[in-house]
Amino acid sequence: MLNDRFGRDIHYLRISLTDHCNLRCVYCMPEDQTFLPRQELMQDDEIVRLVAIFARLGFDKIRLTGGEPTVRAGVVELVRKIAATPGIGSISMTTNGVLLAKLAGPLAQAGLQRVNVSLDTLDPDRFQRITRWGSLDDVWSGIEAAEAAGLGPMKLNAVVVRGYNESDVPDLAGLTRDKAWQVRFIEMMPFAGVTELQTSQVVTHAEILRLIEAGLGPVEPVNDGRLDGEARLYRLPGAPGIIGLIASVTQPFCATCNRVRLTADGRLRLCLLRENEVDLLAPLRAGASDEALAKLITDAIWVKPWGHGLAQDVIPLNRVMNEIGG
Ligand code: SAM
Repeated sequence: MLNDRFGRDIHYLRISLTDHCNLRCVYCMPEDQTFLPRQELMQDDEIVRLVAIFARLGFDKIRLTGGEPTVRAGVVELVRKIAATPGIGSISMTTNGVLLAKLAGPLAQAGLQRVNVSLDTLDPDRFQRITRWGSLDDVWSGIEAAEAAGLGPMKLNAVVVRGYNESDVPDLAGLTRDKAWQVRFIEMMPFAGVTELQTSQVVTHAEILRLIEAGLGPVEPVNDGRLDGEARLYRLPGAPGIIGLIASVTQPFCATCNRVRLTADGRLRLCLLRENEVDLLAPLRAGASDEALAKLITDAIWVKPWGHGLAQDVIPLNRVMNEIGG
């Protein structure tokens, strides 16, 4: 078990498998985003070796993200190797769902346990406006394939952006009336690349809740309003599904943070919204032993920042969201 200096037990690793993506969501990156050359991304054997070191340090929970993790060549075999790593008990993926119709079955067979699918609207035209390149039908087929493959319970993630999809909030939340899904609304966070939109068009937790209740009637808190991971949970009376609100900006959950991130180019990112990173890939490629890499990780986690500084206007500008892995 690895503690930081604030006594938090850090055991959850999010790995960005690639910074490349098959969509260009307006809140994530500019349309003309350039991507890292392949040789600068972690290779499969490098990821597998780092996962084994993290696992020996007590990390038991892995989430694969990106960019878009499903566009990485050989993703199924990579999942198989990560899932087979001793000590890894939980392995999930955050994906836009576009390729899941083809990949959900093979990923599940390789050991993937759950997916979170990003879906910001149920309207095909607005979907295209937000993602710039995507088709809602592909995502919907992907969600169905993921359910059929047993990659549940299904969680959908929606980032709410003023002027783009705040009117979709009730329809998305309404899915929980028919489906035992968790539909999660995320406050938009600022990074490099599209910072102006990200800071000016945020829709807060309080406003999202008002939109849901105005459209669908009152919701009931689940777990007495306590945090479940990063989400506060609510339920429409009698509904099988759950609504989650992730208020990273207005109600940060840094005190219960248990995670760090591995960027696509092999940096250990200690806080999503701080620039602090420690390079693991360069020492690994220079021949560092497992013990030396484990020490780099342990030392870095000890100095993990307490939390973000958005309230003080501290915005991380060294990377675009897709490079870090949300
Ligand atoms: N491509 C995958 C996907 O769409 O889920 C994984 C990577 S994406 C960066 C991970 C999550 O971050 C998605 O749910 C996405 O909606 C969210 N995200 C991207 N930019 C964000 C931002 N500026 N603020 C909050 N969430 C954001």
